Amino acid sequence: MKETWDALIQRAEHLAAKSEATKELLSFYAELLRAQKEIYESLRGRKNWLPTGVLEEDLTVVRTLVPGLLRVVEVHGPAALVEEARALLRIGDDKIDEMLLAQWREPIDAQFFAKAFLQPYARWLAESGWRPVDRVFERHESRCPFCGGRPQVSFLQAKEASAESGNRDLICATCLTTWPFRRVVCAYCCEERPAKLGYFHSPEFGHIRVEACDTCHRYVKGVDLTRLGLAVPLVDEVASAPLDLWAREHGYTKIELNLIGL
Ligand SMILES: [Zn+2]
Ligand SMILES: [Zn+2]
Repeated sequence: MKETWDALIQRAEHLAAKSEATKELLSFYAELLRAQKEIYESLRGRKNWLPTGVLEEDLTVVRTLVPGLLRVVEVHGPAALVEEARALLRIGDDKIDEMLLAQWREPIDAQFFAKAFLQPYARWLAESGWRPVDRVFERHESRCPFCGGRPQVSFLQAKEASAESGNRDLICATCLTTWPFRRVVCAYCCEERPAKLGYFHSPEFGHIRVEACDTCHRYVKGVDLTRLGLAVPLVDEVASAPLDLWAREHGYTKIELNLIGL
């Protein structure tokens, strides 16, 4: 991922100040990103330690950082998550380990805490050059080539004309790595017949569209950086929550829920 944690945090704060409708959502997201940055920096700054790619072995270090994120959610989160954070602060390390390992091995996008926690771990794993070892996944062009995660968001950017992939990339929901993807293809089932693919805009979000597929009935949101270069795909994806409601009302299921659960 090219964006630093600070770039994500600043974009979330900027958008929070701009819109009353999504202010609460984005303020919480900014706090969450700060907690994730702290986890990432603790892992990265740890002396004589690198992740092994086997989460079970890395847990002795990784699990010590869980309470920090839980406390942030306890203070800033919505009511339902606050309850859950409190419950998790009370359970033993073995239960926390179980939760993280289950999510690592078979990710479920509605598993808020485990997903929020594993993103900075997986990002550091990707950046430090190790590969996940204890995570079995199918190799498929619609899956992250590093960790097998599903795409959280798609984005368009101008690249040199010779680039084979065109100019569409996907961002992994698990490790936040970016990979190039064909432009007019479903990011879930790889449907490529144009008649089966729909792109929906709303005037409110000129640089974002819902990219929907009528074969698998899944969708992902696409952020067009050629229209708004200041956009940060991961954050603008969260900020455009009304598009998720629209997509759901029209019978589409998101490929991967974002960290805010939309
Ligand atoms: Zn990944
Ligand atoms: Zn599809």
